[in-house]
Amino acid sequence: MTTDIAYDYDLITLGAGSGGVAASRRAAALGAKVLIAENSRVGGTCVIRGCVPKKLMMYAASFADSFDYARGYGWSFGEPAFDMSRWADAKAAELDRLEGIYLGMLERAGVTLVRGHARIVAPHTVEIDGQRHTARHILIATGGHPNTDTIPGLELAMTSNGILDLREIPESLLVVGAGFIALEFASIMARLGSQVHLVYRGELPLRGFDDDLRQRVARALETKGVQLHAGHAPQQLERDGAGYVLHLEGGGQVRASAVLNATGRSPNSHDIGLESVGISVNKKGAIPVDADSRTCVDHIWAVGDVTDRVNLTPVAIAEGRAMVESVFGNTPRRVDHSVVASAVFTDPPLGTVGLTEAEAADKGPIRVFESDFRPMKDAFVDGQGRSYMKLVVDAASDKVLGIHMVGADAPEIIQSLAVAISCGATKADFDRTIAVHPTAAEEFVLMREPSR
Ligand code: NDP
Repeated sequence: MTTDIAYDYDLITLGAGSGGVAASRRAAALGAKVLIAENSRVGGTCVIRGCVPKKLMMYAASFADSFDYARGYGWSFGEPAFDMSRWADAKAAELDRLEGIYLGMLERAGVTLVRGHARIVAPHTVEIDGQRHTARHILIATGGHPNTDTIPGLELAMTSNGILDLREIPESLLVVGAGFIALEFASIMARLGSQVHLVYRGELPLRGFDDDLRQRVARALETKGVQLHAGHAPQQLERDGAGYVLHLEGGGQVRASAVLNATGRSPNSHDIGLESVGISVNKKGAIPVDADSRTCVDHIWAVGDVTDRVNLTPVAIAEGRAMVESVFGNTPRRVDHSVVASAVFTDPPLGTVGLTEAEAADKGPIRVFESDFRPMKDAFVDGQGRSYMKLVVDAASDKVLGIHMVGADAPEIIQSLAVAISCGATKADFDRTIAVHPTAAEEFVLMREPSR
């Protein structure tokens, strides 16, 4: 690769989160001279204040049930107790370790890291805290941030950033919203001992997911003691003595000692100099890009949450790698956003890939296969846990269009089945696959009679 001598770098990346780091490392491996700018910790939302610490908190919460299972299986021990501050210290140390790994990876790849706020000031020029650098290509991977102005007073609430920094469990927690973040933290905090209220305007949580999953997740949350306030749009949040009160549209209030605002996220597109190069954002603040992640400026690209396509870490990584391989590797490729598996880490967790039943039915005749059972582990202790699995199949071609599960290990199981759906597997392919026994996942290859 020859570096155009007119520029300091081949690529300047704004943002050292999952997308930016993956793209920068791959570009450097392909011979590009790369600078990455970051004004916060290296690792971005996923590693520092999202997926990773959330999952570590989920693991902490998951022990709450393990003690009951253990007793049912013959163990005895004293009363277990949870010390959130010990978890918080261990989590902080783990994030330091992971950030160190990210820093090491950038250094070994030969990527120059510059700390500070980066702003595009001319088509090929980025200013980072007053220092100007030029590049042949610019990649915007600045991610997103929690919305704090959804309703008046919501800025008083914690966001997902704040809840991950708690050092003690609030006596009661009011969660506003019913998306990924709301459900995961409602489920976690309930198991850690908080009295959780979930307030949302729809009839069911998790809009966009398969309805059978939504119903079962709602029921599972109730089983764990979460109070669901469905069909209530929040109107205004106020402080109330030592706690908070949320006023609901049409009357009614919910009180709690702490509040989590989980009403969505917005792209970090403000104050990065887009206007200086004529890039306009859409009404959600996202940077419009084409299928190659190219903005309206030929050599300026954008990946991840700042583009508001599929806002998931692995998608940002895939977009970043595809972009740099196309530009610096002469191997043009695009990310297929049509089949992206996802998981919600509630208890039990949910995993999903492909079309929901309703989406598939809109496209043509389908067959639906389901299995709803009490897993062996639960039946043994007379527990109430259940697993639910669904295959949505195109009636004409026999192709599996959607795979949905709520139950233990659903995210792990769906990851493997996502390969099958990406390969265009048919129901007949599932049928001739021999089961692994005894597992829950085997149900996916043992469903013979369609439910509808
Ligand atoms: P989501 O978009 O998933 O959910 C936002 C929630 O806020 C919805 O329930 C929505 O309700 C509600 N809401 C929005 N505006 C209002 C309003 N004015 N009044 C009342 N309710 C409102 O956002 P999250 O913040 O939960 O997550 C952000 C992103 O982070 C997601 O897109 C996801 O991709 C990612 N994420 C992924 C995770 C994973 O993969 N496990 C985990 C956490 C986050 P309604 O449905 O009625 O519009």
